[in-house]
Amino acid sequence: MPERIADPRAVSEMIRAELLLDGNAAQNLATFCTTWVEDEVRRLMDACVAKNMIDKDEYPQTAEIEARCVRILADLWNAPLETTAVGCSTTGSSEAAMLGGLAMKWRWRQRRLKEGRPADRPNLVCGPVQVCWEKFARYFDVELRQIPLEAGATGLRPHQVAEHVDENTIGVVAILGVTFTCDYEPVAAISAELDRVQEATGLDVPIHVDAASGGFVAPFLHPGLEWDFRVPRVVSVNASGHKYGLAPLGVGWAVWRDAEYLPADLVFSVDYLGGDMPTFALNFSRPGGEVVAQYYLFQRLGREGYRRVQEACAETARWLGEQISALGPFDLLYDGRGALPAVSYRLKPDHTGFTLYDLTEQLRVRGWQVPSYPLPADRGDTVVQRVLIRHGVGRDEVSLLVEDMKRCLERLASGSTGAPHRPSFHH
Ligand SMILES: *Cc1c(COP(=O)(O)O)cnc(C)c1O
Repeated sequence: MPERIADPRAVSEMIRAELLLDGNAAQNLATFCTTWVEDEVRRLMDACVAKNMIDKDEYPQTAEIEARCVRILADLWNAPLETTAVGCSTTGSSEAAMLGGLAMKWRWRQRRLKEGRPADRPNLVCGPVQVCWEKFARYFDVELRQIPLEAGATGLRPHQVAEHVDENTIGVVAILGVTFTCDYEPVAAISAELDRVQEATGLDVPIHVDAASGGFVAPFLHPGLEWDFRVPRVVSVNASGHKYGLAPLGVGWAVWRDAEYLPADLVFSVDYLGGDMPTFALNFSRPGGEVVAQYYLFQRLGREGYRRVQEACAETARWLGEQISALGPFDLLYDGRGALPAVSYRLKPDHTGFTLYDLTEQLRVRGWQVPSYPLPADRGDTVVQRVLIRHGVGRDEVSLLVEDMKRCLERLASGSTGAPHRPSFHH
């Protein structure tokens, strides 16, 4: 830290110049997160810069707006009318997942203790989950039973579940929009499998749906798909407001089917308009702007607006899937149909000459960020790329990407990826 005060413009210009070295967020095709917002969102964020989400008494209207968002989401995810869904905003799906996991762990422990049985070896069953679930398991001392991806599968398959659940299973996590492949896991079929487990063994295993991305896509693009509270076994859902929820970075949501599924032990009270307001969060202080921006987007877009945005993205994704498949060297893992507006693909198994990592590097020359990464667990030898189509990533931009991909593939195929040979410069 320097000793002296500096000129604000000079310092901010210096920092802006340095930030130019970051990648261009709009060309980051690997992220699920919002990279484009309206000016109105910026202005609301600005108006909220000093509002602290935890100070319910000082900012009761921000608290009210948060509560409205929870009710909107409970309704969007079909929480039954006869129950009283509860929920909260978080910093993202990671925090929301921790809260969902903790609630399941507490309920499982309460039940075990009531039965007079040991409650010291909880486990959580899931497929290829996002790293937040590995964190949850490690931080909160739960065994993560991550079921390996089957060959050719894009996520957990129902028939894999039964042999991994037992009396110490706090729950099963199903993912609506698998991070690695962008496909949905079949929540209703996983639930039906757990019904069979219950019939055979008496074990009643709840499901938490990690709908980080899909929670804001499925209700608009796949309204008939039963993945949410319509499935009785689904006790809680998390989603990232800052992904397909279209809000700026820093907001996620957790919703429970009914207050019954959120153990009272986990809930703390803060002052609110002279009374108490229950809160469940890992953080204390947190900005209010993202939550207000989320509410703005719900009101501004409505169901029609979200549907149109997600439909446009999905159409672009399907088009990109067709283009990538026509390029030749790739096998699509997910073609943009039926789940997230995205595609994932790998090189054909018999392909030689270059790797996806080489393609990543070539695309980066033009600013495109399309990282390559290995699939998790037992499929780690398969390297994939994925492209997420979000609000603000339009068809024109994606067709430029396809042209660049063609050029990169030509360069890679001809082995001429180094600097072109030019005569050296002379005065
Ligand atoms: C992105 C993601 C997360 C983590 O969400 P954040 O909002 O980034 O904390 C968890 N699960 C899935 C499936 C995701 O896609």
